[in-house]
Amino acid sequence: YVPVLTIDGPSGSGKGTIAHRVAARLGFHVLDSGALYRLLGAAAKRHAVSIDNEPALEVLAAHLDVQFTADANGDAIIMLEGEDVSLEIRTEEAGRAASQVAVLPRVRNALLARQQAFRESPGLVADGRDMGTVVFPHADLKVFLTASAEARAERRYKQLLEKGFDASLAALIDDIRARDTRDMERSIAPLKPAEGALVLDSTDLGIEAVVQRVIDAARA
Ligand code: C5P
Repeated sequence: YVPVLTIDGPSGSGKGTIAHRVAARLGFHVLDSGALYRLLGAAAKRHAVSIDNEPALEVLAAHLDVQFTADANGDAIIMLEGEDVSLEIRTEEAGRAASQVAVLPRVRNALLARQQAFRESPGLVADGRDMGTVVFPHADLKVFLTASAEARAERRYKQLLEKGFDASLAALIDDIRARDTRDMERSIAPLKPAEGALVLDSTDLGIEAVVQRVIDAARA
């Protein structure tokens, strides 16, 4: 039996960081499902496929040539068609493209089996928007991680500056609100807590405090 722990939540809620730390503590694998949507957006750009061409994007999604590895520090390295796109897919532009391809039902469906295949022994921590609601509805623990839009924008702002990108906090807040609305109001796999999810608000909680609560819940 291979346990699955899902962590869903809006952009910038800290899901990625929490997922990686929880997985490291438990010795589990990680699925960064948002990266798949970002990769598809990047692949569309490379292959000059329009961001609303659903049939073409479905084919691209089914054949997406990606590899998830890590560098010596354990930081994720993401390869698309043999090329390191780890930085490229983290830009705000890539996030926008991701959330645009993510509204297409055939695209989501094409990525479903690929996501479920990440469930490998000894266990998986899956992070995204619909991990607990759609991809792993029978997960052993479902977490919904949230934080205020301002707190999330500020975190993203710091991340971007650290990576050497230029950023504006006001623009990030607007962007996060727009993405929240798009993610919550879309008809397919809208962002919402899964049934039975543990809802954690990280606005005033440190990373380690959140990690500990998830670990405690996983062991309970
Ligand atoms: O989590 P991340 O910001 O990398 O995700 C980028 C976009 O991909 C999200 O804004 C969302 O629209 C989409 N996404 C999704 N379902 C997931 C993960 C991400 O629709 N499971």
